[in-house]
Amino acid sequence: MADVTTTVATLRDAMRQFVHERAWEPFHSPKNLVMGLAVEAAELMEHFLWMDNETSRQVVLEANERHAIGEEMADVACYLLALANVMDLDLSEAILQKLVKNAVKYPVATFHGRYRATET
Ligand SMILES: [Mg+2]
Repeated sequence: MADVTTTVATLRDAMRQFVHERAWEPFHSPKNLVMGLAVEAAELMEHFLWMDNETSRQVVLEANERHAIGEEMADVACYLLALANVMDLDLSEAILQKLVKNAVKYPVATFHGRYRATET
């Protein structure tokens, strides 16, 4: 499992090298990268469009769909890594800080097993 051994820094370096080899830096403005990220997120969502929740749980188990969904997830991640590179923003730090903030926003005592504070 590469996730266990590959660091975010390694992925960022790989993305930086990919961009540099193609001299794409002039095109990689924050605006263009977030737009590309949104497009790739939409491509990812397309795999689940019009499905009910249970079907979406089953479709990710099917080999061909799983592979195609993984490719779109990689596209999303690559744009996020490229954005972190052009912003020189520590993505790991941002994620960890956001998790701390979300832990305060969604305390376990209130949100365990539910996504709203109150039943509707
Ligand atoms: Mg794509």
